[in-house]
Amino acid sequence: TDFQQVASRLIRAIEDWPEDGVTFRDITPLLADPAGLAATVEALVDAARALGPIDVVAGVEARGFLLAPLIAEALGTGLVPVRKAGKLPAARLTEAYALEYAEAVIEIHADAVTEGARVLIVDDVLATGGTLAAAVRLFERAGAEVAGALVLIELPALGGRDVLAGVPLTALLEY
Ligand code: 5GP
Repeated sequence: TDFQQVASRLIRAIEDWPEDGVTFRDITPLLADPAGLAATVEALVDAARALGPIDVVAGVEARGFLLAPLIAEALGTGLVPVRKAGKLPAARLTEAYALEYAEAVIEIHADAVTEGARVLIVDDVLATGGTLAAAVRLFERAGAEVAGALVLIELPALGGRDVLAGVPLTALLEY
């Protein structure tokens, strides 16, 4: 497709970042390009529509924040941020998940979604799945229904799809 062509040209691989042995997929050149951004939004919105009715789109800090608002506005839904620990001012729900050598914590406001709302969770990359799985737990605890998870890039070798079993997962690209 149009998106796959422009994305494979503009997403760059950075070797040994943020640490030795990791190949980081950098989406900033794709978003900086007018045709790249347009094709990205079109592909994300098409994928979101295929998941059925969506009431709210959630973006995961930080790079999910670059994508989720574009989808929410196109779908005519609201937008909810999933933030790193300590950033949200009102009553919140908290979930921790394991990183390689540490723990990460993400949060949503306890009143961010209404009971039964169908939430689409958006991030740039699915790696081990720890981040998106924690986001799913947050919205389930808030009483929402997770309609799906949507990422630009899936790294299938890291097994994130298995960690998200039970949640419809759409990835536009695999590396
Ligand atoms: P996971 O929790 O699935 O292991 O990691 C996913 C999170 O790490 C996402 O929030 C994503 O932004 C970030 N991440 C991991 N690897 C990459 C990568 O190669 N490129 C980018 N852009 N983000 C990555």
